[in-house]
Amino acid sequence: MRQKIVAGNWKCNTTLQEGVELAKAVDAIVASEGADDVVVVLGTPFTHITKVVESVNTDRIGVAAQNCAAEAKGAFTGEVSAEMVKSTGAEYVILGHSERREYYGETSEILNKKVALALENGLTPIYCCGEALDIREAGTHNEYVVNQLEETVFQLSAEDFKKIVIAYEPIWAIGTGVTASSDQAQDMHANIRAAITAKFGEEVAEETSILYGGSCKASNANELFANKDVDGGLIGGASLKAEDFIGIINGF
Ligand code: 13P
Repeated sequence: MRQKIVAGNWKCNTTLQEGVELAKAVDAIVASEGADDVVVVLGTPFTHITKVVESVNTDRIGVAAQNCAAEAKGAFTGEVSAEMVKSTGAEYVILGHSERREYYGETSEILNKKVALALENGLTPIYCCGEALDIREAGTHNEYVVNQLEETVFQLSAEDFKKIVIAYEPIWAIGTGVTASSDQAQDMHANIRAAITAKFGEEVAEETSILYGGSCKASNANELFANKDVDGGLIGGASLKAEDFIGIINGF
């Protein structure tokens, strides 16, 4: 059985105090409501990770960084290394998000370094892929997304690939209120899984969790997660309120 995962990506939101309150609220509801078969992850700003790790039951809730450096250590002012992230108690790192690709120039080459360092340091990359609207409209989205994976995580050994989580996030659905339809999500997830099968074999493909992200909320999570190839979600805006986030977790 593939792991079901609901991960929040807080992006550049919340002060430390607000973030800790949010984490505690999620922790309290997760403790009381169960959903034991779903791994819950909070993707917080770097500054919040240590406090959030201290504030939640880490047997039940994992903490993610939203980035890590492409270098192991050294004179890279302002960068935070994978080793540093790991030393905080975080277990995951979101990599390849379209906002990082678009606003911070993260290329496949840079992402390959980040993924390698994350894995070397025992972090689980939540690796994002997804197409822009013009690609979707041109009908080349399936090839585009597979190509994103071929240039990056498909270069890993099967052993390492098994350690990552994939998140499909169509750019046109991120923060827009426009969600991919249940069929669009399932079609792309099946396309990704078929590409994983072709590259690494069926066993690896069957074990890879593929999350959907892009305007996922409590009201549509249920329909999205009902698809056989959708193993959970990577949630932006709706992860910033505990009740909304829990509503999504309960979508399973
Ligand atoms: P929204 O849920 O706000 O659309 O963001 C999705 C996302 O980018 C998660 O990484």
